[in-house]
Amino acid sequence: MLLEQLGPEARLLAGGHSLLPMMKLRLASPSYVVDIDPLADELGYVTEEDGEVRIGAMTRHNALLQSTALDRRLAIVKDAERVIADPVVRNRGTIGGALCQADPSEDLSAVCAALKAQMVIRATGGERVVGMREFHRGPYETAVGPAEMLVEIRVPAPRGSGSAYAKVDRRVGDWAVVAAGAALALEDGVIAGAGVALAAAGGDITSSEAEAALVGEPPSPELFARAAALAAAACEPVSDQRGSAEYKRHVAGVLTQRVLQRAAARALQVQEEV
Ligand SMILES: Cc1cc2nc3c(=O)[nH]c(=O)nc-3n(C[C@H](O)[C@H](O)[C@H](O)COP(=O)(O)OP(=O)(O)OC[C@H]3O[C@@H](n4cnc5c(N)ncnc54)[C@H](O)[C@@H]3O)c2cc1C
Repeated sequence: MLLEQLGPEARLLAGGHSLLPMMKLRLASPSYVVDIDPLADELGYVTEEDGEVRIGAMTRHNALLQSTALDRRLAIVKDAERVIADPVVRNRGTIGGALCQADPSEDLSAVCAALKAQMVIRATGGERVVGMREFHRGPYETAVGPAEMLVEIRVPAPRGSGSAYAKVDRRVGDWAVVAAGAALALEDGVIAGAGVALAAAGGDITSSEAEAALVGEPPSPELFARAAALAAAACEPVSDQRGSAEYKRHVAGVLTQRVLQRAAARALQVQEEV
């Protein structure tokens, strides 16, 4: 693989909407840039296989937004894509680039964390699959090594599950002040699986305390308020031009409660239709 020959100073270029601004600002100065746009056809897809949705790493934001395969099974992706950047960015930017950039305000990392997605990472020697918790190590840091490439995102989409994403931004297309995502699987009237994640809220993107509080309980507004309070208490926002830490914590709670309610409603709707 070319990346192995070029060494750790080489960087992949997918849509370029994060890497090129970083290079212009001199925040990144790779010695080599490997353009993977020729892989856009091979790695640009959304399919459903063995009860999971598979998304190629070169799938562009706009293709995710247009994908009918995601409509019912993974509404959270569409919720997020509607509020990511603008059409120019969405036409070129890829899900792989977004996840590998791992910007702390980046929306699809929170989406994949809520969905407990699996990441397929390829190197010359073969492929390995890591969970989103292992993949996303923190701001701008992922499990992808210097001679590796993210090739696919696998998302379990059990029947009877629902998901949602909501974001507060200062103006249309802006990065999040705070955003929240939730995915719920309902079985026999109780929550059998829960994913809760925050973007731009600092700390761990996964709200483990909220997830633990939800599992095994019947969905109710009171439960969602309790889980949202746990998510808000656990996040670590910082004060900046987008708002004070206190305001962001409040928004994290409000949005978490909102997406939990919407995810549950969507799960119930799917169950009624089956
Ligand atoms: C004006 C503007 C507004 C934006 N607003 C938002 C927003 O509201 N929300 C949001 O979430 N994002 C936003 N973004 C970011 C946007 O979504 C980018 O497209 C995305 O972050 C990067 O995707 P890309 O394909 O352009 O990646 P690139 O810029 O090509 O690459 C980004 C990084 O990932 C690495 N990389 C790329 N693909 C792979 C791969 N397959 N395997 C391993 N490493 C890889 C690259 O080497 C690089 O380090 C915005 C960007 C801009 C310019």
